[in-house]
Amino acid sequence: PEEMQSMLYLNGVTKSFDGFKAINNLSLDIAPGELRAIIGPNGAGKSTMMDIITGKTRPDVGEVRFRDSIDLTRHDEADIANLGIGRKFQKPTVIESLTVWENLELALVGTRSVLSALFHKLTPAQRERIDEVLSLIGLASRTSLEAGNLSHGQKQWLEIGMLIIQGPELLLVDEPAAGMTDQETMETAALLKEINRDHTVVVVEHDMDFIKALDSKVTVLHEGSVLAEGRLEVVSADPRVIEVYLGR
Ligand code: ADP
Ligand code: MG
Repeated sequence: PEEMQSMLYLNGVTKSFDGFKAINNLSLDIAPGELRAIIGPNGAGKSTMMDIITGKTRPDVGEVRFRDSIDLTRHDEADIANLGIGRKFQKPTVIESLTVWENLELALVGTRSVLSALFHKLTPAQRERIDEVLSLIGLASRTSLEAGNLSHGQKQWLEIGMLIIQGPELLLVDEPAAGMTDQETMETAALLKEINRDHTVVVVEHDMDFIKALDSKVTVLHEGSVLAEGRLEVVSADPRVIEVYLGR
């Protein structure tokens, strides 16, 4: 079998809202196993790009491919999640009245019916998987705590755990550090690096300490296109990047 070239490939993608190009001839190539940070000023098109990848928004033109051969523009949001693309939104969607364990259990066995999921008898392998994810997200000592009693950061980690337990190949994360303490921000960067050991990860974030801690290739979006791409030390010295961030 041929080796996969790209986990995610966007080429010439444009999306207008009322004549305004939120995404303008955007190209992006994420290799299998990569950890990629996406930065850019407010309104650069970062969330719209995530919406296009996950099928929430259709591009006007352009290619959006997953694992080389899957044309994501032909699939809807639910299909794309089932294909193996997990998306973490800014706002956590954990169920606050359920415990940490129950939230993971629901994510693992499916959320079609809360009641049937909770009465579903887990296999030993499923219990083991929940335990693995609990230690990954640092909540192994909080299993029976109601999610509503977690800190903001812990809720975000639980949500990431709920995505990981569904076994995606590609994880998309939009502004995970928003509202976090400095300590939580650093722990989140470490968590995503750990997740990157066996998942491809694309993360949008503003927080520069977080981006530094990720220590990954960076793509700078501006006005819906790629302005610069490379190591943070290189892109942050690029005069065009400096102008976009500081020049106005
Ligand atoms: P970012 O996430 O980088 O801050 P967004 O992708 O949210 O940027 O937005 C990019 C631009 O597209 C902004 O100017 C925003 O106002 C516009 N935009 C995004 N979604 C819509 C929409 N549904 N309708 C109209 N304009 C939109
Ligand atoms: Mg955004």
